[in-house]
Amino acid sequence: MNPIFSALQTSVFEVMSRLARETGAVNLGQGFPDDPGPLDVRQKAADAVVNGWNQYPPMMGIPELRQAAATHFKHWQGLDLDADSEVMVTSGATEAIAGALMALITPGDEVVLFEPMYDAYLPLVRRAGGIPKFVTLTPPAFGLTEEALARAFSPKTKVVLFNNPLNPTATIFSEADLDLLADFCIRHDAVAICDEVWEHVVFDGHRHKPMLARPGMRERTVKISSAGKIFSLTGWKVGMVMAAPKLMRVLSKAHQYVTFTTPPNLQAAVAYGLGKDDSYFEGMRADFQRSRDRFADGLKGLGFSVLPSVGTYFLNVDIAPLGESDDVAFCQRLVTENGVAAIPVSAFYAEGAVKNVVRFCFAKHDATLDAALERLAAWKKAA
Ligand code: GLN
Repeated sequence: MNPIFSALQTSVFEVMSRLARETGAVNLGQGFPDDPGPLDVRQKAADAVVNGWNQYPPMMGIPELRQAAATHFKHWQGLDLDADSEVMVTSGATEAIAGALMALITPGDEVVLFEPMYDAYLPLVRRAGGIPKFVTLTPPAFGLTEEALARAFSPKTKVVLFNNPLNPTATIFSEADLDLLADFCIRHDAVAICDEVWEHVVFDGHRHKPMLARPGMRERTVKISSAGKIFSLTGWKVGMVMAAPKLMRVLSKAHQYVTFTTPPNLQAAVAYGLGKDDSYFEGMRADFQRSRDRFADGLKGLGFSVLPSVGTYFLNVDIAPLGESDDVAFCQRLVTENGVAAIPVSAFYAEGAVKNVVRFCFAKHDATLDAALERLAAWKKAA
C-alpha cells in the first residue's frame, strides 16, 4: 500500500460529523450550510435530470457552463477568460486541486504551502511527488512576510498552493500580500494554484481579488472555484478551473483520466445559477454576515475570545484565555460532554504549533446557532 495514504487518519471533518451524529451534538464542525441552497437552481438540476442529457457530457464541461463561468468572473472579478481554451469543469474543487498537482509537479519539485491549510493539500502534494515547503501563518492576522516567503522559496520551487479567502482562519490576504506572493512566483518561475472557493463568501463590503488578475500572474495562475460554495450546495461537487491555454492543456489531461466528466444536469443548473442577479450573491453574503454576527455576539456574551471573520463561513475562538492549551482535547470534550461539534485548527497545521484555536461553522439557521450557544453557556457555567 502507498505509505502516504496508509498512514493517514480519517479526515477531521468526517470524524467530527460522525461524532456529532452519534452523540446528537449540534454540528458546527464540518463546513456545510443548514440552508438547502437556492430553489430555482435545484429545480434546474431536477429538470435537467428528467428532461435533459444524462450521458457523458464533453470532457471539458458543457459549453453553457464554461461560457457562464467566463461571463460570471468577468462581471464579478474583471477577468477576461476564453470559455473554450481557459475554463474547465471538474467534479469539485478537490478534484481540480489534485489534478493540478498531478499535472504540474514532477517528483522532487518543491511546493510552497501555507499553514493552516486545508487537510487534503499535503497528502495530495506528497503523492504527486512534491516536496512541501511551509510558510506558517499565525494569529491574529495570518498574513505573509517577505522573510517567511524567502525561507520557503528556492530554485526548486515549482508550485505554490494558495487558499484565499483562507479556510480555517476566515481571513483574506491583503493586496500587499498578494503582490508579494506574485513577485516571488514570478522571480522563481512558479505556478500559483489558487483555491478561491470562498471568493463569494466575503463580508463587510470586501470584494475578492483573484491572483490571476495580478500583474505577471495571468500565465502562471490556476484559479479554482466551487459551485458548492457559491450556491451552498456542498454535495454537488461541481468545480471550475480557469487558466491560460498553455496550462489548461496539461490540466485537462489529468482531469480526463481522473473523473473525465461531471454530471451534466448539475452543470446545467450551475450555468443557470452563475447568471443570477447580483442580488442573489449580495443576499447570500448578507445572510451569512447576519449569522456570523449573531453567533459572534453570542460567543462574546459568554466571554469567549472571538477572532475576526471576514470571509468563509467560519468563526474561530482562541481557547488560551479559557486556560485550554490542546484544541483537539477541547473539541473532543465539547462534542462528547457538551453536545457541540467544532474543528480543532491544529488539524490544518503540519509543522506549526498553533493549538489554541477552534473553528465553528456559522452557516446555520438561527435555531441551530442558538442551540449551540445554549450548550456553550452550560459548558461555561460548569467550567
Ligand atoms: N470544506 C469543508 C470544511 O472546511 C470540509 C469538506 C470535507 O468534509 N471534506 O469544513
